Amino acid sequence: MNNYKAVIGIEMHCELKSNSKVFSAARNSFEELANCNIQPLDMAFPGTLPVVNKKCVKDAIKIAKILHCQIPEYMTFDRKNYYYPDLPKGYQITQNTEPVGINGYLEIPFKDKTITCLIHDVHLEEDSAALEHFFDATLINYNRAGVPLLELVTEPCFHSAEEVLAFLEYIRLVYQYADVSEADTKKGQIRCDVNVSIMNEDAKELGTKVEIKNVNGFANIVDAINYEIKRQSELKDNGRYQEVEQETRRFDEETGQTFRMRSKVDAIDYKYFAEPNIPKFKIGEDWVKEIEKEIPTLPLERKKLYTEKYQLSLTDTNIIIKDKAIADYFEACLKMGIKPKTAANWLITVILGYLNKTDAKISEIYMTPERLKELTDLIDKGVISSKQAKEIFNHVLTEKKEIKEFINSDNNQISDKDELTKIIDNILNNNQSQIEEYHKGRTNLFDYFVGQVMKETRGQANPVLTKEILTAKLQKDN
Ligand code: ADP
Ligand code: MG
Repeated sequence: MNNYKAVIGIEMHCELKSNSKVFSAARNSFEELANCNIQPLDMAFPGTLPVVNKKCVKDAIKIAKILHCQIPEYMTFDRKNYYYPDLPKGYQITQNTEPVGINGYLEIPFKDKTITCLIHDVHLEEDSAALEHFFDATLINYNRAGVPLLELVTEPCFHSAEEVLAFLEYIRLVYQYADVSEADTKKGQIRCDVNVSIMNEDAKELGTKVEIKNVNGFANIVDAINYEIKRQSELKDNGRYQEVEQETRRFDEETGQTFRMRSKVDAIDYKYFAEPNIPKFKIGEDWVKEIEKEIPTLPLERKKLYTEKYQLSLTDTNIIIKDKAIADYFEACLKMGIKPKTAANWLITVILGYLNKTDAKISEIYMTPERLKELTDLIDKGVISSKQAKEIFNHVLTEKKEIKEFINSDNNQISDKDELTKIIDNILNNNQSQIEEYHKGRTNLFDYFVGQVMKETRGQANPVLTKEILTAKLQKDN
């Protein structure tokens, strides 16, 4: 098989978070009992009128801004007409002539570099009802009818399934960071149409594209793209490229293959026209500025900051930025004055472990950045060892008590230099042979001496001071 250049463009639909639906007052919640979150409008009852949900428009503008899109002066909606049982009105309200954002771009991480994705447009629309197919019947769940959807259309700017996957994973994170959607693929909140064509490496014009409709799940998208590239390449190799038709196909999860649904000749004419029940309304500049202020620092920027300025490893960085709440916690720790590596260590080894075990949320955890700072200060000052700190950490978390309560109650630490020196002198006197060994090069005996001091004091010796005195003594003896 020859290697052709693959060209891919994505149309990604993502359900937005909101209290009510995009044009009705029904709850935007698809998970409960079927057909309980419905208003007459969602069922297309005569005489009902749509009312645009301001929060959804705001979130759409937020994403348009993040994607560096041009935003129109007015918000307008259009009707896309077609009949299907999951669409009771016989049309979908969407944005066709003036999407909320056009001509954008987004820089995304790809392997150890970044690539720039080109955005054709983003537009706000409504979801259809959900059809549930059974052996002898199909049921309709109208809870999903009218759920806000943001559709993002990219330019044909991707050249492999890997690039598309990197894009989807990153954009999902961006939606979560912007707090516009859970963007949970498992809940079917993200659905994609995938457009694929191939061309000779040096060709000037793009090849004929095939559209694969409604692919669910990132792994399926990758499989669908790779299958389609292979299918088209084989046809081209065999001199049958004319058989690649501008058509719509579907992906079959069982076989991993794509199948023809309809050709462009049978393409549906949606007879778009301006939605007459929603008058256009102005998108005020002040409002856009307010919305822009809510845009958080995006994961890619944080990644650069963490690896370059804070010198964290790529693995640690990726763990931290994978969840905005975690990244925010990390940054709050730095603001308190905890060193980046120390904060990352506590976060990854202890805090995330605790969160995983208990299902707790980091925003609700009792060990706040303030308390963590208190704890790390105590280690730095040598008041407690890091082992003790971990124990105190667990107490604070589970018993929701202040750190100082543990310091006072079970920490009668010996921090008096004279007292400690006496104890250490005594121990060294009784360990002459070990001292000789130590000077012969068995320097790991240092820990043995520390251990002896701890044993003697039942763990109450100030570890920093102990080490200081021991180092001085062992040098003097030399
Ligand atoms: P249509 O007229 O079929 O809706 P568009 O030009 O609007 O097609 O593009 C729809 C999607 O198809 C976009 O995501 C775009 O990036 C992608 N696309 C367009 N042309 C190609 C091509 N030759 N190969 C792959 N994807 C393409
Ligand atoms: Mg659409």
